[in-house]
Amino acid sequence: MPDLYGAIDLGGTKLRAIVADLDGNVLGEIIRPSEADEGPEPVIARMIETLEAAAGKAGVSASQLRAVGVASPGALDLVHGLVFEAPQLPGWDGVPLVEIMSKRLRIPALLENDANAAALGENRFGAGRDTRFLVYLTISTGVGGGIIIERKVYHGVSGAAGELGHMVVWFNGPRCLCGERGCLEAIASGTGLSWRAKELVERGEAPGLANILREKGELDADEIADAARAGNKDARRLFDEAGLYLGVALANYVNIFNPEMIVLGGGVLTGAGDLFLEHAERIMRQLARKEPLKYVRLERAALGDRSGPLGMIAALGDMVHGERPTQREV
Ligand SMILES: [Zn+2]
Repeated sequence: MPDLYGAIDLGGTKLRAIVADLDGNVLGEIIRPSEADEGPEPVIARMIETLEAAAGKAGVSASQLRAVGVASPGALDLVHGLVFEAPQLPGWDGVPLVEIMSKRLRIPALLENDANAAALGENRFGAGRDTRFLVYLTISTGVGGGIIIERKVYHGVSGAAGELGHMVVWFNGPRCLCGERGCLEAIASGTGLSWRAKELVERGEAPGLANILREKGELDADEIADAARAGNKDARRLFDEAGLYLGVALANYVNIFNPEMIVLGGGVLTGAGDLFLEHAERIMRQLARKEPLKYVRLERAALGDRSGPLGMIAALGDMVHGERPTQREV
């Protein structure tokens, strides 16, 4: 039996636990609802149960795993292994998740931001398997990102680096969930598209969406995409904006990081990428500097919902091989 590792993707709606070896072979996987509105304690208990069930599928118990990693959304203190409140995680007020997991399971534990984990997963096992320098962007409800340098996550001084969705691409542009204006997330994410549709209707600038909005109360990215495909000009305009400003952001990532690959994933990209990705690539090629542009490839993410947990498996491998500090030494 090879050494096995556990990883849990902690989401606002779902928990996904996998048990895998360091080559990324998944031997057990369980998905359960997280019921995050119940607060941290019941969610942590469910995380452990879900991991136990995944370990059972692999023929071991969770305490026989070499280590466990958790990929979490929201604001984290990676130095001390703490999870703070986020829209997806109500009531998490500096929960010492690393300490709790390692005490209850009696194995080492590691915490990572979910988008950083997904970036590492795509780098080690997914679309960017043969790359050393990679930028990952997930376009879904929000826009998350991760930066891979020499096959490691770039964390910055406190672990807060890589918030690529909050790159400001439109000065004084639409309001973002983070409180600023004109972040990429405010224009190209599911939430951004939805808010922007409402805003344009309220200003009388999108008469073509007013009727649909009145009927449904709110428009999500899928509904705006359906309207755009049916020829609705106002819906089309929203995706033109998303493509334009995504292209601006991509050009900036190319100029700053000189990556070999930019991997794009997430629900909005999967569902509506045909409406804005080509435009984004054209803008990127127009704006980025020639030298780094020669080396960069745009690819779709290859691992789907497994990118985060598989990235945690890779991070645990680095940790036990001493190539990554354990949480308290970050
Ligand atoms: Zn923002």
